[in-house]
Amino acid sequence: MALVVQKFGGTSVADSTRIKNAAKAVIKEYRNGNKVVVVVSAMGKTTDYLVKLAGEISPTPCTREMDMLLSSGEQVSISLLAMAIQEAGCPAVSMLASQIGIITESVHSRARIVDIKTDKIQKHLDANKIVIAAGFQGITPDGEITTLGRGGSDTSAVAIAAALKAQRCDIYTDVNAIYTADPRIVPKASRLDQVSYGEMLELARVGAKVLHPRSVETAKQFKVPLRLRSSFNIEDPGTLVVGDENMEIYRPVTGIAADLKQVRIAILKVPDKPGVAARIFGTLSENNISVDMIIQSMEEDEVNNIAFTVHENDLNNAISVLERVRQEIKAAEIVVDNNIAKVSLVGAGMVDRPGVAAGMFDALSEAGINIKMISTSEIKISCLVAKEKAEEALKSIHKKFDLDTKDQHPNEIIN
Ligand code: ASP
Ligand code: MG
Repeated sequence: MALVVQKFGGTSVADSTRIKNAAKAVIKEYRNGNKVVVVVSAMGKTTDYLVKLAGEISPTPCTREMDMLLSSGEQVSISLLAMAIQEAGCPAVSMLASQIGIITESVHSRARIVDIKTDKIQKHLDANKIVIAAGFQGITPDGEITTLGRGGSDTSAVAIAAALKAQRCDIYTDVNAIYTADPRIVPKASRLDQVSYGEMLELARVGAKVLHPRSVETAKQFKVPLRLRSSFNIEDPGTLVVGDENMEIYRPVTGIAADLKQVRIAILKVPDKPGVAARIFGTLSENNISVDMIIQSMEEDEVNNIAFTVHENDLNNAISVLERVRQEIKAAEIVVDNNIAKVSLVGAGMVDRPGVAAGMFDALSEAGINIKMISTSEIKISCLVAKEKAEEALKSIHKKFDLDTKDQHPNEIIN
């Protein structure tokens, strides 16, 4: 008998038919003799709808009230799923994060989990019940409701799996597997049977929207074997995300993705003195703005240009804090480029294989695409290109690295 955590995303519980369908996948696992804990997101686009509703009332709603509001979505889906399972003849009980004891930091709208109590869940499991836990939400030590940030139920599921030392965490979603690229953009994308945590983490960070990056970090830290699989085809084994040591092969390139939500900020004619970069990036970090690619280029007359990318949601805030810094350090001008996409290639096997970067640049050059910025890490290379070229860039890189599927294309992306 194993302990299995299953997670169902919003699309997998979007209406009563899908909830009954999810119940089938739960019951199948339970009837196989396993203990099952299920983590659920809000139904369909509920969270988006609640965000929109709040926006109609206030342009800047208080984050505590936003958490009160958004956490309500998961209360609806857990109770309905518990009913569906009971209706099919199995014992089930739904639980909010406050009832379980999913303790987070005292930060609203993007809290991190600090502890998960297992005693109450365990008591229900010992009584042979299926436990349905609300994803995305937590509670602070003084009883305030928090949320983990959009898409956070993946993280809830993995953290619960880690706390309970589950044998497996199955994330049910609306795709059958992880692919070498988003099949809606690159129709020849191939399925991957296995990827490493490191590769998945980079892919999630660079724009592959299949798993929430923090869930992968948590899985990596606690060595929780993750399986991404389809809630519409529960026989399909999906893709396994595991530690490097369990990987059989290293491909130079595992997958590619594009992030269309970055903007580039350039600060021109920054005096070439120690401390200016620290001042610029220190200010951004104090204001909680994450910076991605950074380049500094030499100009004449002891001035440099410094350019970097931030998420488009952080743009206004970044510009307002940087304008003060610009005046202080006596830089000439701040210039914004909105028309960019970050195209990235990820693969743990590129570490000992020279030529992967060159291959990516070749692919872009053959497609006549200009590169605006480059950054690399151990297992990732990213290039900034014009937004309208992103799709072509992905297709060209995909082909260059021979990732195009040899199979009849799996017409299996369900939505
Ligand atoms: N319902 C939340 C959201 O839409 C959490 C999740 O789906 O993972 O962001
Ligand atoms: Mg969701």
